[in-house]
Amino acid sequence: MSLLDFDRCHIWHPYTSMTDPLPVYPAASAEGVRIRLQDRKELIDGMSSWWAAIHGYSHPVLNRALTEQTAKMAHVMFGGLTHEPAVELAKLLIDITPDPLDRIFFCDSGSVAVEVALKMALQYWFAKDKPEKHRILTIRGGYHGDTFHAMSVCDPVTGMHHIFNHALPKQLFAPMPRCGFEDEWRADDIVELAGLMERHHHESAAVIVEPIVQGAGGMRFYHPEYLRRLRQLCDQYDMLLIFDEIATGFGRSGKLFAAEHAGISPDIMCLGKALTGGYMTLAATLATKDIAGTISAHPPGVFMHGPTFMANPLACSVALASTRLLLDSSWKERIGRLENQMRIELAPAAKLPDVKDVGVLGGIGVIEMKNPVNVAELQRFFVDRGVWIRPFGGMIYIMPPYIIDPDDLSILTQSMVSAASFSPS
Ligand code: PMP
Repeated sequence: MSLLDFDRCHIWHPYTSMTDPLPVYPAASAEGVRIRLQDRKELIDGMSSWWAAIHGYSHPVLNRALTEQTAKMAHVMFGGLTHEPAVELAKLLIDITPDPLDRIFFCDSGSVAVEVALKMALQYWFAKDKPEKHRILTIRGGYHGDTFHAMSVCDPVTGMHHIFNHALPKQLFAPMPRCGFEDEWRADDIVELAGLMERHHHESAAVIVEPIVQGAGGMRFYHPEYLRRLRQLCDQYDMLLIFDEIATGFGRSGKLFAAEHAGISPDIMCLGKALTGGYMTLAATLATKDIAGTISAHPPGVFMHGPTFMANPLACSVALASTRLLLDSSWKERIGRLENQMRIELAPAAKLPDVKDVGVLGGIGVIEMKNPVNVAELQRFFVDRGVWIRPFGGMIYIMPPYIIDPDDLSILTQSMVSAASFSPS
């Protein structure tokens, strides 16, 4: 059986059928911004492997961090033991995230970081003798992961509520923000959310949002003022504010963290994806001293979570190396250049008849089609042109590694505009 035949018959891929899967392409290696397929064809990477590989692939600094740590210890349990990679990474993350966040919980993946954040919020109110504050409020159009509590706060229409509704906690949903990032702010944008908070704060623990960029739920960029008002409302109604920066963290939106666009801090923040520069799975949930102290001051006196691979030393070492590499680089200028180039080169798509909208923010470029695209056909079109771009729904989008050069970026943007002009659906 060939590799592809075995894969097709036995291996589940993300969001695919086991009987009629979309085609997959065998990757043999990857370096810089190029993914090499088994037939030696090279593809320019437009996806950073889902927002993660910000420095490109097989980076010598990250490779070295990994091999040096492997020689010392690949893993030890985090119960009763600690180690330098976890402590150094924690110091750095606490240093670069908004100020009140100085307590950190390492976990396995983005979805788990969201579970941990929601669990912290619930345990915080439990500790304050208000267990009735257990619901979570969010905005439509969001995406926070595939585990159960994370699913419960994903958009109820484009998420998986229709399948799992009977098993999901019932959360509260405000309409998605209407004011775009560059629009003039209109105060009525947040009126419904404020109303929900006024009516439900006594039974609600927290608000969770992806700050500024709604990613996998639809690739929308909304107004920073929305977040400033949300911060005020959370204070007014005694609810915690959780920012899911799993996709936006580490520079992707043009700021190190998207919260900085609004100049405010959440009470809890989730990080993942680009944390390890795309090398392996690691996530972190940061919280304030008050949250950690409140949870710890009341029976059972501990935060009830502890994954087997918590703070895995290999993952922490590569995350430390990746974050230092980012901070030592001129990442702001680089992302500014990506943004300018994408704005110029994607603009012509706005005039195409099948295109609904074109949006660019930081290192993210999106062409939104009026109708869902044929993913398999468009994927083949992109691979034939030597680029790796994977659309979803009606979104043809890229978030390339920050190290991409202008010529390679042009090939990506031209491929997107060509795809949008013939738009197989
Ligand atoms: N939150 C956001 C904003 C995400 O974009 C994602 C992943 N696309 C997740 C959570 C879940 O992360 P993971 O896939 O690592 O579980």
